[in-house]
Amino acid sequence: MQGHHRKYLLQTFGCQMNVHDSEIIAGILEKEGYVPARDPEEADLILFNTCCVRENPERKVYGRVGDLKRLKEKKPDLIIGICGCMVQQEGELEKIKEQLPHVDLVFGTHNIHRLPELLHQVEAGIKHAYEVWDEEREERDGLVEGLPVKREGDLKAWVTIMYGCDNFCSYCIVPYVRGRERSRPFEEIIAEVTELGREGYKEVTLLGQNVNAYGKGLPEKVDFADLLAALDRIPGIERIRYTTSHPRDFSSKLIKTIAASRKVCEHFHLPLQAGSDKILRKMNRGYTSRRYLDLVAEIREHVPGSSITTDLIVGFPGETEEDFQATLDMIRKVEFDSAFTFIYSPRRGTAAARMPDQVPEDEKRDRIYRLIEVQNEISLRKNEALKGRVVEVLVEGESETNPALLQGRTRTNKLVLFAGDRDALYGKLVDVRVTEPQTWVLKGELASGGEPV
Ligand code: SF4
Repeated sequence: MQGHHRKYLLQTFGCQMNVHDSEIIAGILEKEGYVPARDPEEADLILFNTCCVRENPERKVYGRVGDLKRLKEKKPDLIIGICGCMVQQEGELEKIKEQLPHVDLVFGTHNIHRLPELLHQVEAGIKHAYEVWDEEREERDGLVEGLPVKREGDLKAWVTIMYGCDNFCSYCIVPYVRGRERSRPFEEIIAEVTELGREGYKEVTLLGQNVNAYGKGLPEKVDFADLLAALDRIPGIERIRYTTSHPRDFSSKLIKTIAASRKVCEHFHLPLQAGSDKILRKMNRGYTSRRYLDLVAEIREHVPGSSITTDLIVGFPGETEEDFQATLDMIRKVEFDSAFTFIYSPRRGTAAARMPDQVPEDEKRDRIYRLIEVQNEISLRKNEALKGRVVEVLVEGESETNPALLQGRTRTNKLVLFAGDRDALYGKLVDVRVTEPQTWVLKGELASGGEPV
């Protein structure tokens, strides 16, 4: 078999969709006979699965691949590859050819299934095996079905339920690089999750850029709520999560389905992005701050004890101090459990990049510091309210920061650290009493009883 005993190093940038694509890429490579390498020196193939949502990771890829030129001179058989969202951008392939001519392999987000063929071409001495389909191609649909997957763990699994996005938020490049929205067939998802339950996985996270739009365009009349209700009945799986949810498409039916389910976790990640209606309109988000607050109220009424987290962008073009204050105001009103905060950076090819009134960098930085300060206070306050409470935790193993402790997450997706026997508890749901809540983590101890929250 070609590539037998050859070693690969795969580096992933970006979101969970990319992380899961990398699991598929690793699965394909291992089927081709490759084994993981520990470092670049011993690798025969170095592959970068890239992201283009922000500028920084993109610059990093150019820097790292540029640095590999020297290694390639020492080891001419080394295969260097770039794949993922970055290469789907208009003009990117030309830029790679010009600036990184030592790259052997390039493939896009729609060409993952073609990796073995492209790899064989490179191994056979073809200099540049490049294949990037544009979004007009139709054949890509369903092409990842049946590809091998090398999952990162044996407890939690990612399951893609839809591809692409039709929303065209004005700052976002995703619809251009991941294509239009397509839902995976209902039965295929059920079959994959049933198999995961049989294999011993305890938690699944359903992936899509906008999972709430699931079902549109499928021949059967099903929506995301129907999918969750069906997955809730699958044996073995204890927790169901999903990402990302667009607040505009979050229906009352979905909230009620989640409230009635046993396994769907009480964690709602609802990207707000901005608090000012003027900015939300310019972002093309399709909701107002009022609608968002109503949604939060409805969730809290039907799913008490749930956590709500968000994504926020500061410094969108035209954002005034008053608009920024509206974001702070929303944070205080909603009281998010936590927030991912971003400084707006223009992405080539998006509508927002061409908007006037770009906010100066120092102003953006000042705003994000103020934003983080307010949010951190709220996160700490919310976690402190859990002191003395018992939470249900899925034990994931040793803590990444303190191997003397175990770590796991609550159903509300809060990280919990506590002392315990790893071998006895790994993969189990345990009750932990919160003793020391902090901004980012809950420290606790195993509890012998009490009501999980
Ligand atoms: S919903 Fe908006 S932000 Fe999310 S992927 Fe689609 S266009 Fe991008």
